[in-house]
Amino acid sequence: MPNINLHKPWYNSPTIIKPGSHITVLGGGISGVCTAHHLQKNGYEVTLIERNGTLMSGASGNPAAILDPFIAASDTIEKEFYLNAFQYALSFYQELNDDIFEQCGLAKIAQNNDEIMRFEKISKCYTEDVLYFDDDRLIFPASGYLRPKKIASILNDNINVMLNTHVDRLSENTDNTWSLYDVNHQQITRCDGVILCNSFEVDNFEQAKNLTLDKIAGQISFIPAQNNEKNILCSDGYLTPNIETEHGNINICGATFEKNISLEITDKSHQENMRKSPIPIDNKTILGGRRGIRAMSGDHLPLSGPVANYDLYMKEYSTLHHGPSHKKFAGAPYHKNLFLNVGLGARGFLTAPLISHILIAQLSGKGTPVNEKTRHALHPARFIIRKLSKK
Ligand SMILES: Cc1cc2nc3c(=O)[nH]c(=O)nc-3n(C[C@H](O)[C@H](O)[C@H](O)COP(=O)(O)OP(=O)(O)OC[C@H]3O[C@@H](n4cnc5c(N)ncnc54)[C@H](O)[C@@H]3O)c2cc1C
Repeated sequence: MPNINLHKPWYNSPTIIKPGSHITVLGGGISGVCTAHHLQKNGYEVTLIERNGTLMSGASGNPAAILDPFIAASDTIEKEFYLNAFQYALSFYQELNDDIFEQCGLAKIAQNNDEIMRFEKISKCYTEDVLYFDDDRLIFPASGYLRPKKIASILNDNINVMLNTHVDRLSENTDNTWSLYDVNHQQITRCDGVILCNSFEVDNFEQAKNLTLDKIAGQISFIPAQNNEKNILCSDGYLTPNIETEHGNINICGATFEKNISLEITDKSHQENMRKSPIPIDNKTILGGRRGIRAMSGDHLPLSGPVANYDLYMKEYSTLHHGPSHKKFAGAPYHKNLFLNVGLGARGFLTAPLISHILIAQLSGKGTPVNEKTRHALHPARFIIRKLSKK
């Protein structure tokens, strides 16, 4: 039986799926890879499905990904979540092969006096191992960058990885198992549960069509190595230290945020990256670039948890605007054994390890490693509940 939360039944814990059950993870970016890894560690049989020919080929496929934590002076749930996510990500990536995580530190450079004052104030709200203030900079000594393509190597051989496989439709069977179908209506797999990790395309599935995620494209630019600082530098944009990649010895300069979700690399976006660079760029030769699409939620927190049955939520909780205690509401109507880890926005590499850990702890019945407030702040149904509360 699901655990009934009397105060907020719309955020009840989902039904437990026993370890040993077969779970399909849909999408092979950082969200899907971390989710599959945590499932496997907890004793599940895992299938990971990716449409492209390699893992980490969507937004997660850049030659480097930086860990740039969200920070704030005031105590908010976002601050608490991102601090937990940063610390969890550091320990998660540090345990991996040396080749994956480069712990070079990250420096946010203030752009004006107001920002210097803000940085000084923020630095008093964190411990020095997380960040400290130095001159005009906030330094994150433990941060660094990842080589995303290498992260896929964390997956154990026991995980059944299906590449070049596009899932067109999901269907719940009468015995509560799920079937996944391709465009030709052929069944790809049948399993006990599904976790959707397919980012901005999640609303293509009937069960998730009411999720509201913004699609924001971004471009990074590769320039000849010319930054002799050890740290990643951040201001409006960011500049990595010199990195050896398939494009040569480069600095990566990024990133744009664009409503136009075309994946075609543009010179205009390269110019924007140069303009936003934290330090002036001497050699402006462009050696290449990469574009991807981010899935952003309205409150900049990821969506992680069980998938709400939208129609039943709208019916059951339609009078929520009268106040949460004016009647006894029923427990959350979820699509049974269907979950998601999406909406990772601009910090997916920072949040994917923790949200995967939280989600698998929930579905295996181990209880969440974070407090209820955080679980509710990540709950995929929170936007439906906010809408109904305001009506
Ligand atoms: C230019 C740019 C720079 C960025 N830099 C950073 C950074 O430095 N640090 C950081 O933390 N974050 C960064 N981000 C954000 C980060 O890339 C994302 O948050 C993260 O990659 C999202 O991961 P994901 O697994 O949710 O999505 P994706 O990596 O996009 O993976 C989703 C996968 O699902 C697959 N898929 C979709 N639909 C289906 C289907 N029906 N069937 C089968 N497969 C399907 C797709 O092919 C794709 O591979 C950046 C983003 C951009 C665009």
